[in-house]
Amino acid sequence: MHCNSLTANQTDHLENANSITDVAKKPPKWDIEEIKALLDKPFNDLIFQAQQVHRQYHNANAIQFSTLISVKTGGCPEDCGYCPQAARYHTGVDNQDMLSVDSVVEAASAAKAQGATRFCMGAAWRGPKQRDLEKMTEMINAVKSLGMETCATLGMLKPGQAKQLGDAGLDYYNHNLDTSPEFYSEVISTRQYQDRLNTLQEVRDAGINVCCGGIVGMGETRDARAGLIAQLANLSPYPESVPINYLVQVEGTPLHGTAKLDPFEFVRTIAAARITMPKAMVRLSAGRREMSESVQALCFLAGANSVFYGDKLLTTGNPEVQQDQALFDKLGMRSL
Ligand code: SF4
Repeated sequence: MHCNSLTANQTDHLENANSITDVAKKPPKWDIEEIKALLDKPFNDLIFQAQQVHRQYHNANAIQFSTLISVKTGGCPEDCGYCPQAARYHTGVDNQDMLSVDSVVEAASAAKAQGATRFCMGAAWRGPKQRDLEKMTEMINAVKSLGMETCATLGMLKPGQAKQLGDAGLDYYNHNLDTSPEFYSEVISTRQYQDRLNTLQEVRDAGINVCCGGIVGMGETRDARAGLIAQLANLSPYPESVPINYLVQVEGTPLHGTAKLDPFEFVRTIAAARITMPKAMVRLSAGRREMSESVQALCFLAGANSVFYGDKLLTTGNPEVQQDQALFDKLGMRSL
């Protein structure tokens, strides 16, 4: 099939959809060859197509702001090759026990005052223990009562845990696929791709929205990026929120020193995510500080419509709030 446009089936489906959930319920299936063909397109054609899809389903000048807080930092037993929080890498990240509910609520209130509508709480665990989960449900409940959307990223979930989070008022659970199934073992060995898919299914079954994306710039090929997008787009339903991260290379992690990915490849990946998951919020996530304003603007043109806001991600830096405000003013973009 040619990828110059969406297929008739895909277009019909998109036109009949009224909400994120409607679209995500019955996503069109994407063959990996179609996604490779998208990524291989001349840049201008790809961006034009992505912008057309974007305008069909979103306000092209609106952006959603999420703020991320690390509620438990460092000391993680997993071996994700990009992560400064893995206990086995020596990255200078200080371990920090779980934050108190009060301090999380204080941070969420400050984020809300700065315009964030979604508050994401991350913990460096392989997965939460029951006692951790109980404290998390308290935090979720408290943040939710501020009138913000809640999101958590806590690692792998055992059966029943997603339901507890959902009952506490969790709106989104983040669990990234990271990369293609084929490239995955180059980056992580302590858990399998299928483990990730299982957690995503737990989240879906609990009725929680899925936030799931990946990281590019880890030394993968363009085909591997196509493989990641195919996995995401073919989840049934596809994620409501799709963070695309540009690897932040942290000294001490195995991926430090990886050849830098050309930023145009990053923009292409955003465009492919937008085209294949038209209703999703595509988030320009980690790595923004490494990007020029022009590259960020290209990402918005390619269909990114969400960013992390605030000076810090889990452990790595993010553009200053004022710098971001100035950029969005220049681009005439406003908060959703
Ligand atoms: S990405 Fe998450 S699971 Fe992997 S090492 Fe870092 S904190 Fe642990």
